[in-house]
Amino acid sequence: MRSGLVRGEGDLREVMSFARPRRVGVLGVGIDCVDFALTLDLIDAWVVQRRSAAALGMALPCRQLCTVNPEFIVDAQRDAVFAAVLGRAALCVPDGVGVLWAARRGGVTLHERVTGSDGIYRICARAAARGWRVYFLGAAPGIAECTAQALQARYPGLAVAGAYAGSPAAAEWPEIERRLAESDPDILFVAYGHPKQDLWIDARLAQVPTAVAIGVGGAFDFVAGVTPRAPRWMRRLGIEWLHRLVTQPWRWRRMLKLPVFVGMVLLDRQKMKKFISTVRSVF
Ligand code: UDP
Repeated sequence: MRSGLVRGEGDLREVMSFARPRRVGVLGVGIDCVDFALTLDLIDAWVVQRRSAAALGMALPCRQLCTVNPEFIVDAQRDAVFAAVLGRAALCVPDGVGVLWAARRGGVTLHERVTGSDGIYRICARAAARGWRVYFLGAAPGIAECTAQALQARYPGLAVAGAYAGSPAAAEWPEIERRLAESDPDILFVAYGHPKQDLWIDARLAQVPTAVAIGVGGAFDFVAGVTPRAPRWMRRLGIEWLHRLVTQPWRWRRMLKLPVFVGMVLLDRQKMKKFISTVRSVF
């Protein structure tokens, strides 16, 4: 069953039995207690469910996956709409060593970071093995196409449904909708950066014809080679942020959110909220 469609009631029960994972709250944002293996299994189940439903003439709604890092959590403190989107998402995976650290302080051990930048490779590897169709939406013009080519070269047999920069602007939706409808993807990667991509997915969830839509931030830029990724040893040490600061110094304002996040976790949350509102002009 794992490699194909639901064939009988037993298979369907197995697929539907994927309970929602436990969530741990980090400064009011729910993070699902998942690792890569469980994340891939959930995506697998959603794709099987959608294809099975489609074979019966039914359309299942798309699920939203958010890759939550400390920046998301700081932004959610002062953006109620973004916080609500994270709360509604089918899966909020722990992207960022700071999220793992904060969860551990709350008594929950999360085993690994589940990042969009690694996830795009792992999901495409699984997609190539299973025959899922993937669509790449976002980033600067031409980057989505380069991303698709790079991943197809790495995972022969990867079924690329399409690649398009588009834009989160409302005027772009008809074109994106037409392209998605024509290409019948199972998985949609959206690279408009947070919170734009996550708000966009939430707003279009009922219309997006895929099993899952995943906000992956700057992952296309990494895969296409536009932005250098931190070396593995830096990622292992949890200092990928330092590499980003050195290679993309214009990010420094945004990166001030990291110490703010640490402060919020260590100190009283309400006091830090006040602190943030006094320095919000900096961000
Ligand atoms: N981007 C885009 N359209 C927009 C805003 C951003 O395609 O209107 C792309 C941008 O080209 C880049 C990605 O979104 O590829 C944002 O990457 P970043 O690393 O800043 O993502 P974040 O860390 O904010 O999630």
